[in-house]
Amino acid sequence: MVLLLFGPPGSGKGTQSGKISHWLRIPAISTGDMLREEIKAGTALGKAAKSIMSNGGLVGDDLVNRMLAQRVSLPDCEHGFLLDGYPRTVEQAEYLDGVLAEQQLRTPIVLHLDVPMDALVGRLTSRRQCPSCKRIYNLLHQPPKRPGICDDDGTRLITRKDDSEDVVTERIRTYDELTRPVLAYYQDRKYHQIRGDRSPGYIFEEITGILEPVVAKNGSSCCTKALGKGQKS
Ligand code: ADP
Repeated sequence: MVLLLFGPPGSGKGTQSGKISHWLRIPAISTGDMLREEIKAGTALGKAAKSIMSNGGLVGDDLVNRMLAQRVSLPDCEHGFLLDGYPRTVEQAEYLDGVLAEQQLRTPIVLHLDVPMDALVGRLTSRRQCPSCKRIYNLLHQPPKRPGICDDDGTRLITRKDDSEDVVTERIRTYDELTRPVLAYYQDRKYHQIRGDRSPGYIFEEITGILEPVVAKNGSSCCTKALGKGQKS
């Protein structure tokens, strides 16, 4: 099963992708996380991406497409995967179709987390992330138990550099201009719009409700084990 998680910055994609990946036992691939790792490692790709990301723009399609194709060709993606933050342009969506055809994977299921634009800036500027396990917290709604420390592995939480108010505004503008049109590309396929302005637990229940029939029908190894676990997490 291939899942695409769509939504503007701050719509909760990262939180839901962690839950879905754990439930279905498929890798969650965030191109944003991958690019941040490249920056940290000081690679040529990281150097090319750094200033674009810190200004809230999009990294070039060629660079991101190549990075993505390499990642999904790894053995852990054989039975499917979830993409968080890709495709972000129509060109990336077309490229992904080619990659999926090559790997003989099915048409992706698109989950669109729709959140009113005026809620996003506040959500993003109060967001904190564990740099180690990537878990996301929100100081207003989902704070860590100990201030500034990840509940899961005790790492000190960070504020992403691009979560400052001016960069957030630019990221939302970029989403509207370049990524929203990608939704039209998937409109007549397996497309599901989900209200993202509710608690993460409710949203995850809606997602499991959408996916359970597909899981039951596919009966693929990773997904068969997952059946019935959705409502508990
Ligand atoms: P968010 O969805 O909250 O904006 P991400 O972590 O997905 O955060 O992305 C952070 C930044 O990484 C983006 O603003 C963009 O610069 C870059 N990026 C991530 N994914 C892509 C992509 N598919 N294409 C181009 N740039 C990307």
